[in-house]
Amino acid sequence: MSSLALQALYDKVNSCQNIQTGRFFINDDNFFCPENIHISNIDIAFVTSSYEMDILNLLKIKHKLQEYKIPSVLGGINAHLNPSFFAKNFDIIFLGRLDKRFDLIMQHFLKYGPQRLTELKLPGIFHYSLGRCSNKESPAKDYSYLPSTVITSSATVFPNTFLTEIAAGCRHKCRFCLLSSLNKPYKYYPSSPLLAKIKKLPLSVKKVGLVAASVNDYPHIENLIKAINRFGKKITTASLRMENITPDLLTLLKANEQKTITLAPETAAVHLQKKIGKIYREKKLLQTAELIASYGFARLKLYYLIGLPAESDNDIILMTEQIKKIKNALNKGAARSGINPLLELSINPFIPKPFTKLGAENYENVKTLKQKIKLVKKKTAGAGNIKLHFLSPRAGKLQYFISNKLNTIADILEHAAVHKYKLMDIEKKIRNF
Ligand code: SF4
Repeated sequence: MSSLALQALYDKVNSCQNIQTGRFFINDDNFFCPENIHISNIDIAFVTSSYEMDILNLLKIKHKLQEYKIPSVLGGINAHLNPSFFAKNFDIIFLGRLDKRFDLIMQHFLKYGPQRLTELKLPGIFHYSLGRCSNKESPAKDYSYLPSTVITSSATVFPNTFLTEIAAGCRHKCRFCLLSSLNKPYKYYPSSPLLAKIKKLPLSVKKVGLVAASVNDYPHIENLIKAINRFGKKITTASLRMENITPDLLTLLKANEQKTITLAPETAAVHLQKKIGKIYREKKLLQTAELIASYGFARLKLYYLIGLPAESDNDIILMTEQIKKIKNALNKGAARSGINPLLELSINPFIPKPFTKLGAENYENVKTLKQKIKLVKKKTAGAGNIKLHFLSPRAGKLQYFISNKLNTIADILEHAAVHKYKLMDIEKKIRNF
């Protein structure tokens, strides 16, 4: 239940009258329903999947639904990325938010039953026979529904955490970013309904997860954190935009006992910043790092990309020099706070995503990526309190294929789902692709 999409889906379906709703989870190959409903008693299944590497589980779910002949609706990022692939196997592919269009699906289901779902011709519903959405009219998005946790649990990735969306999409338009491409326009929720929900949280809920592509772009972020601090809850957030990091924000995050600040500079080379549409001044990054250390945070986490289009070894060296400058800036700030933060770097291969401006680019050769990783390690060796993490180039290639070329590896995936292979077994099979 750590997926906000699943929580919101459950909430939406469960709030319909005369429906008994059960949640089904897949663990290895076993299905488990906390509400003790047997799968053979399901009239309709709503499935959401947001992480490409969940593909095998999605295929296993599909097999199970087909075995019991259960009509199904699939949504989420995976459905968006490969609607034609999934439309072969799920009755409806829903490419939208849980807005009024989803309510129309529910109304149709309640009125006519699951068998006539495929007749629905709404914006956002992909039809296999047409190879596209039947109604091309741009879906009018509405944000009247505020997705947030309805069931908290101690046995999830985010235990005892209340997740709430504070904004959809992103006001920045980085050319590689799926989040901003799929969720247009950027829209943030007013703070009063958010605060009302947070105020009512029971004592057992210890954390509030603020869900947004860029949390500190939210115009009321400081008031929101102040209130969360008053209610005695901890915050979890994804990465922050460095432009909006202010002393006031750091003071509030420190008061919330946050230990880590996460930023995503992506690349040090200015020509690559322009290419990906995420431009910043290095001076600002260094000032921000120094400020963060001066407030006594224990860790600064940074995300970088390698294998960007037209990236040279010189660009990689620029990145390693930037990392060392950041380390120096942290040292300077630490002289004031007495705490020298760990600099943690997550360096991942660039994976072009469909629907983004850089979606037609290629995935870098695995051998070249490995050489770049070696170069980063060599150039940052001895730089002090630094920790490096790399997503393996081969795992990145698999993710690239799942996002972009699912139909070319569909047979391999189907075979893997049936024979219970692991994802990395598939990676071996696509090495020569
Ligand atoms: S990469 Fe971050 S800042 Fe850029 S568009 Fe995506 S979410 Fe926004």
